[in-house]
Amino acid sequence: MARASSPTRARQTDAERVPASVSESGAKGRLSGPQRALRRLGLLRPIDLALHLPLRYEDLTRVQPLAEARDGDEALIEGEVLACEIQPRPRRQLVATLAVAGGGRCTLRFFTFYPSHQRALAVGARVRAHGELRGGWAGWTMVHPRLLSADAPLSDGLTPVYPTTAGLPQAYLRAAVARALQQADLSETVPAEALAELPSLGQPAWSLQAALAFLHQPDPRTGRAALDDRSHPAWQRLKAEELLAQQLAQVQARQARDALRAPVLRAREGGLPQQLQAALPFALTGAQRRVLGDIAADLARPTPMHRLLQGDVGSGKTVVAALAAAIAIDAGWQCALMAPTEILAEQHFGKMVQWLEPLLAPLGRSVAWLTGSQPRAQRQAMLERIAAGEAALVVGTHAVIQAQVTFARLGLAVIDEQHRFGVAQRLALRQKSAGASGVEPHLLMMSATPIPRTLAMSVYADLDVSTIDELPPGRSPIVTKVLAERRRPEVIERIRAQVAQGRQVYWVCPLIEDSEALDLRAATATHAELTSALAGVRGPHGEPVRVGLLHARLPVAEKKAIMAAFAAGELAVLVSTTVIEVGVDVPNASLMVIEHAERFGLSQLHQLRGRVGRGSVASVCLLLYSAGEGGRVSEAARERLRAMAETQDGFEIARRDLAIRGPGEFLGARQSGAPLLRFADLQTDEPLIEWARRWAPRLWASDPARAQRHLQRWLGGKIDYLKA
Ligand code: ADP
Ligand code: MG
Repeated sequence: MARASSPTRARQTDAERVPASVSESGAKGRLSGPQRALRRLGLLRPIDLALHLPLRYEDLTRVQPLAEARDGDEALIEGEVLACEIQPRPRRQLVATLAVAGGGRCTLRFFTFYPSHQRALAVGARVRAHGELRGGWAGWTMVHPRLLSADAPLSDGLTPVYPTTAGLPQAYLRAAVARALQQADLSETVPAEALAELPSLGQPAWSLQAALAFLHQPDPRTGRAALDDRSHPAWQRLKAEELLAQQLAQVQARQARDALRAPVLRAREGGLPQQLQAALPFALTGAQRRVLGDIAADLARPTPMHRLLQGDVGSGKTVVAALAAAIAIDAGWQCALMAPTEILAEQHFGKMVQWLEPLLAPLGRSVAWLTGSQPRAQRQAMLERIAAGEAALVVGTHAVIQAQVTFARLGLAVIDEQHRFGVAQRLALRQKSAGASGVEPHLLMMSATPIPRTLAMSVYADLDVSTIDELPPGRSPIVTKVLAERRRPEVIERIRAQVAQGRQVYWVCPLIEDSEALDLRAATATHAELTSALAGVRGPHGEPVRVGLLHARLPVAEKKAIMAAFAAGELAVLVSTTVIEVGVDVPNASLMVIEHAERFGLSQLHQLRGRVGRGSVASVCLLLYSAGEGGRVSEAARERLRAMAETQDGFEIARRDLAIRGPGEFLGARQSGAPLLRFADLQTDEPLIEWARRWAPRLWASDPARAQRHLQRWLGGKIDYLKA
């Protein structure tokens, strides 16, 4: 009997070591392992622990007879150990057989085990085992069950299982949470009228205190489904609280920003923006005019703009940026335009020179170019022009935000493909402020990856968003087909036909993680294959057809030369591993082949596809997939390919991407400055998000102290990110 209790002894000892509170032990200077782990999880104050809610629950309230069991049940069983031995094959494992109380036998298997397991499972001992019951041909089995003492009284509530980290045992967490629930201030911060508007919180709505007490220790008679899917009113209450905190944080961020000063940028009648519009070879679309109106209104206000311009690939964001720059320049300020890659930045530079230089030159001003790879002397000259204010517009890569760059009067910063930059970089650009004038520049971010509605309403609620929801006229839709790799010969046949008509083709090979060398080999092989397949094919003017190869290891100058040759039509086919150069603009390209399309993310695929269909010719995107070693394409990959074939709408793509990946990944590691929601789910909790959006400004206005208390409770010291 004594032996059987050994696996649980560790639990009890851990529990005994729980300090009265983390801060108390912190005062003594040295933290124990679990205390340090609590810190790592950000569980510093009693309220943090009180809000650390279980991931799931275990039912240790009763011992289940095998007669009632179904395959896959999570169950607590009790029995006497009949046999216990180490089996060397097929994999070394500890195998014990239990004669289960109430009849029947169950095999317990452990692939990792310690002497404590063997002691607990000594023949003749009585133990309890908790785990998933599997009913196979060989009878009931549990793999890696948790062993518990058969002497201890059964729990009277469901046992919470908390999110944890190495060195922080569940028992320690449970005890720490129980104590924190006593210590934490759980007074209400959400107005009762607000709660009354949400029937899903139960009527009358659960108090915070009751909801927390319940979620940490639910009544075992509660339906497990409502706990597991978090639809239970107590869960709803916590999600509503969390979302309200998030919205309050956004209200606060917006207020902080509104307290900053920015230059008032207003174009003169007949000034640069009008001249530029008149000189463009096309008329703006209605959507472009509308978003430009939003931007112009922001620029004319004395507080910094913080606007995201989203628009699908090819929707024409660049010209909007140029017009915004023209407004700033016309008002006597400078503008910076930053793009994530050199090729993209250079394309922008080319466009800006083409559009703006004819207008700037008579004024003695110009467009400057800044990148990490440019010759030193050239760079120095650029820096001087920027500092002197002669450079009205500065286009470049990250080089634009480096310390040596000093603007005379920076009034507007534009960041293209903003999701590719981190919070820190955005901040750095904003801090390149207007020097002596002591004001902040306006900030315009552009993205071809639209933010799904629920994210825009929550995580990004402090951004103003303008959307270009219309493509320039004359674009033809892109037909997308998903093909198995074995149909490669057909694909090559299609390429021959296209290039013979003078059309151009992109062929994208995937980046293989951590192995540029392998990428390069795959791309080189494809390049050779296409070169030989197209040998002898002639273009419409009898010219031989050439295939180019672009990959990450090429020097920038060579990459540029290859891109330029493709843009000029000298290369008919461009094989590329560089998936990063979104936005390249070659209207004559009408066929895009993506090899191993199953390896790309959905928004990446969408962005790549957006490089064709830019002219008036009907375009095609072929997604070649191949099953991996296991002979199968993962379900998520299949979902992505299906989404690509089914829709071309960037918003729908973003929505599906969010559904496939979840918001954490959607935002990407670079965005991790934004605290993600722990409890609320952007897919299912839209009504709660809307509710929080309505109430946050009201609470902020009517009872700021209470609003602050709510914010502090939920975000504690983690609100720094909002300053970005
Ligand atoms: P994105 O939004 O993907 O950055 P771009 O700004 O690169 O798109 O625009 C794609 C192409 O469409 C460019 O060649 C651009 O000059 C052209 N374009 C932009 N606006 C219009 C318009 N209103 N009418 C016709 N062509 C346009
Ligand atoms: Mg673009």
